[in-house]
This record gives sequence, C-alpha cells and structure tokens, in this order.
Amino acid sequence: VFDVLVVGGGPAGAAAAIYAARKGIRTGVASERFGGQVLDTMSIENFISVQETDGPRLAAQLEAHVRQYDVDIMNLQRGSALSQDDDGITTVELESGAAVRGRSVILATGARWRQMGVPGEDQYRNKGVAYCPHCDGPLFKGKRVAVIGGGNSGVEAAIDLAGIVSHVTLVEFDSQLRADEVLQRKLRSLSNVRIITSAQTTEVLGDGKRVNGLVYRDRAGGDSHRVELEGVFVQIGLLPNTEWLKGTIELSPRGEIVVDDAGRTSLPGVFAAGDATTVPYKQIVIAMGEGAKAALSAFDHLIRTSSP
Ligand code: FAD
Repeated sequence: VFDVLVVGGGPAGAAAAIYAARKGIRTGVASERFGGQVLDTMSIENFISVQETDGPRLAAQLEAHVRQYDVDIMNLQRGSALSQDDDGITTVELESGAAVRGRSVILATGARWRQMGVPGEDQYRNKGVAYCPHCDGPLFKGKRVAVIGGGNSGVEAAIDLAGIVSHVTLVEFDSQLRADEVLQRKLRSLSNVRIITSAQTTEVLGDGKRVNGLVYRDRAGGDSHRVELEGVFVQIGLLPNTEWLKGTIELSPRGEIVVDDAGRTSLPGVFAAGDATTVPYKQIVIAMGEGAKAALSAFDHLIRTSSP
C-alpha cells in the first residue's frame, strides 16, 4: 500500500509525486503516458523562470526530477475504477487487470482538447493549428487567425487574440453564438473580428509546412468558402479524463473533479489536481502548483488519520 498514490504523470502528477516523496513517505505514480499533454506541446514560453522550452524536453525533465526520488513509477497504466474500503484505503483498478492501493490518492489525469476531426488538423498541429490561446496566442502576433467555436471559451479566446493578432475570424457551427451575452457584446465591439455562424469547418489548408487557410461550408446555403489565415485555434471543448470516476467522486456538469481550495475531493483521503479538476485556467504552472498543494493536503490527511 502506498502512502500517496498519484494517478497521472503530467505536470500536476509529477509535482504531487515530488512533494510527497520529499516527506519520506511511500509514493507511487501510475500513469498512461508520463509527461501528459506537455508531450504534445512545442514551444513553451510561459513556464515561469524558464524563458523557453519545448514539450518533449520539459516532459523528460519532469520525469528525471521525479526519478531523483524514491518514487515507484508505473508507466503505461490506465486507471479504470476507484473504490474505497471501510478502513479508508483507496484502490485504483488498472486496465491491465492489476490494482494499486493508497492510504491517500491524488488524481491528476488531466484533460484533452476536443478535436475537429477534419483533414489538415493533425498535419498542421503546432504548425498553425493550436488549442491554447494563453500559450500560443503571442506566436501569432500581427497575423490572421480563426477561432473555431462560439461558446464561452471560443469567444473569450477571440477577444483575447484580437488584442494580439491582426484579424480574427470566429467560426461557429450553430446559427448563433452560445457564449454569455456580455462576452458576445464585447466581441462584436471589436473592429478586427468577423463572426461567421452556421459554418462547418471542413478542412485546414497549408503549404506542407504551415497553415495558410481554412475551408468552411455554409450550413444554410451549402457553399464552401475559403479564409486566408496563418492560425486556427480550436475551442470546441476541453474534456477531462475522468470518465472512469463517474459515480464514485463528485464531478461537475462538465466532468471535472470538484475540489476545494486544498485539493480535497468528495471522498476523504482522495485529492485531485490540474486540468482534471474544477480549478480554472488549464496551464502547466497552475497544474504544478495544484499538484504540490494536493500532496501537502494528502500528507496532512495521513498524519491525522494514521495510527502512531
Ligand atoms: P496532463 O498534462 O493532461 O497529464 C495527465 C496525465 O494523466 C498523463 O500522464 C496521462 O497519460 C495520465 N492519464 C490520463 N488518464 C489516465 C488514467 N485513466 N489512468 C492513468 N493515467 C491517466 N500550458 C502552458 O502552461 N503553456 C503552454 O505553452 C501550453 N501549451 C500547450 C499546447 C498544447 C498543444 C496542449 C494540448 C496543451 C498546452 N498547455 C500549455 C496546457 C498544459 O499542457 C496543461 O495545462 C497541463 O499539461 C496540465 O497538466 P496535468 O498534469 O493536469 O494534466
């Protein structure tokens, strides 16, 4: 039985593991893919104190830092169910058929961006196709971009980007935007934004190296149109990797693990951190801070509940 069992090996899980191991307690990390979303990232310029790095490099450094401690890393392991005994021990069943147990558990399974699933999207990921305006917005300074999705995150992204890039085209599938009225009003007040509704994005175009356009189909008239641009921000949803927790832990309507300000979940002894939780703003620096916090909360739980 681990004192602290971390599920997920992204920035949140790595930070939690290091903070737990530094307390001298038995720490394990079970993760599907150590590094998490960071592995899919190219340029990272907002990880404070590191002026510039890239995803694979940061992921390798995360793992090296965790390995500096006595942490049991279980890679390529996907949690499929969670349960708790009367004595407060939490069991995480793995898809491999094995099970791991912890006196405390930190859930840090992160999230994934919903993709459009159109030709060009995969080919030009990190070459013009982006998912995170806070991360990649400045890379498109003075250029033309589209934002796909007219919900709150899409409209917020468009407002944010309009202050950095030269022009934003917001493309919404529905006949109207779904964002809060106050955001829509702000968006409509911006002179360098064009809003296209009833539009289905059908292809991302490029020259083989980088994005140079977008094709959408007008769902009312049926015609296809081409927009010349340099970047496409896809904002059609961030899906937390929490499907396997449904029914055992309180999740928000969006599927995020509900945590309090100490990272506690609805189950005593089970904590959560990072993109999988209700904590707003999904960023590396935030996930790491939350992971550290969850580990300290887990340690606090252990010293209060374990017999001397
Ligand atoms: P994740 O990084 O998602 O890690 C989750 C971990 O859990 C992974 O190890 C995964 O394999 C594992 N896992 C998932 N499900 C299970 C399961 N059932 N059982 C076991 N393990 C599981 N942020 C920035 O701050 N700056 C940037 O420049 C930046 N650029 C980005 C670019 C892209 C393309 C993307 C996709 C994201 C970017 N982000 C950036 C966001 C940042 O990567 C995330 O906020 C951060 O990685 C979240 O950390 P996390 O540990 O919560 O989750």
